Amino acid sequence: MIPRFRLARPATLDEAFAAFEAANGDAAYVAGGTELLQVMKMGFAQFDTLVDLKGIPELHGIEGDGGGLRIGATTTHREIERSPAVADAFPALVGLVRSVANTRVRSTGTLGGNLAFAEPHSDPATLLLASDAVLELAGPAGRRETTVSEFVVGPLSTTREPDEVLVRVRIPAAKPGEGRAYAKLAFFERPAASVAVRVTVDGGVVRSATVAVGSLTEVPELVPDAAAALVGADAGDGALNEAIAGGIATLGSLDAVEDLNGSADYKRHLAGVLFASTARAAIAEAVGHD
Ligand SMILES: Cc1cc2nc3c(=O)[nH]c(=O)nc-3n(C[C@H](O)[C@H](O)[C@H](O)COP(=O)(O)OP(=O)(O)OC[C@H]3O[C@@H](n4cnc5c(N)ncnc54)[C@H](O)[C@@H]3O)c2cc1C
Repeated sequence: MIPRFRLARPATLDEAFAAFEAANGDAAYVAGGTELLQVMKMGFAQFDTLVDLKGIPELHGIEGDGGGLRIGATTTHREIERSPAVADAFPALVGLVRSVANTRVRSTGTLGGNLAFAEPHSDPATLLLASDAVLELAGPAGRRETTVSEFVVGPLSTTREPDEVLVRVRIPAAKPGEGRAYAKLAFFERPAASVAVRVTVDGGVVRSATVAVGSLTEVPELVPDAAAALVGADAGDGALNEAIAGGIATLGSLDAVEDLNGSADYKRHLAGVLFASTARAAIAEAVGHD
C-alpha cells in the first residue's frame, strides 16, 4: 500500500517551491509517478507531501529551437514518440522512446522523471549525453543549466537539489553532415546495455565522433577512445570495418558493472555488438546529410 501523503497541485514554479518549503523538506516532486509511487509502495521512501508538476505549463511541451528541440520535463515518452517536430529534428530519439517500457508507462512517464530518477537501466540519458543536451533547472535559489554528465553522478543519484525542478531539456540542432543513432539490448523490462553514436561526415570521411554507453557502467559515460577510432575513417569502404573493430577493442576496457543481465565481460561484449550497429547507423544517416 502507498503511505498516505498530501498532494499539492501548483500552477507555477513559484507555487511548487512554496509547497515544497511548506512541508519543511519532507516533500518530493512527482510527474507521472511511475517510479516514485513504486518506490513509496515498496516502502523505500515516504513523504508528507508530493508536489505534482504536471499542472505547470512551463514544464510541458515540445518546441523546435532553430533546428534543435526544447522538450519540457513533464512531456511524456508517448508525446515525444508522436511529435512531428522530434521526428523531423531527431529521429534517433523517436526510436529510443518507442522502445521504452510499454504504452501505459510511456503515456504516463515523463522525460524529466526519467532523468531525475537516474535509474542506471534507462535509455534517454545515454543518447542525450552523446548529443550534448543541456538540462535546465529551477529552484528557489534561481535557475541554472547543466549537462547530463554533470547531472547524473551515480545510480539513482544526481546533482539536483531536493527543491530544484528539472524544467526542460535542450537538444542542439544536428550539424551539417551529422548522424545520430542509439541502440540497446534488453532481456528484461529495462535496457541491459546501450550505445549512442554521433558522427559528422564530410566528403565521405568521418570528421568527428562522440560515443556514449549506458546501463554498462554506473552512469552513462562517454567513451572518447571508441569515438577516436571512427574519426578519419572512410564512410564507404573496408576502412570503416577496421575503424569499427578498433572501436570495439577500446570498449574491452570499459569498467562494466556485473548485474542480473550478465557478467562485466558479457556486458563489454554487448557494448561491442551495439557499437558496431550504432556506428554504422549514425554514419549512414550522416552520409545522407553530407
Ligand atoms: C515497467 C516499467 C518499464 C520501464 N522500462 C524502461 C525502459 O525500457 N527504459 C527507460 O528508460 N525507462 C524505463 N522505465 C522507467 C520510465 O521511463 C520512468 O518510469 C519514467 O520516465 C519516469 O517518469 P515519471 O514522470 O513517472 O517520474 P516520477 O515517478 O514522477 O518521478 C521519478 C523521480 O524524479 C523526480 N522528478 C520527476 N519529475 C521531476 C522534475 N521535473 N524535476 C525534478 N524532479 C523530478 C521525482 O521526485 C522522483 O524522484 C520503466 C518503468 C516501468 C515502470
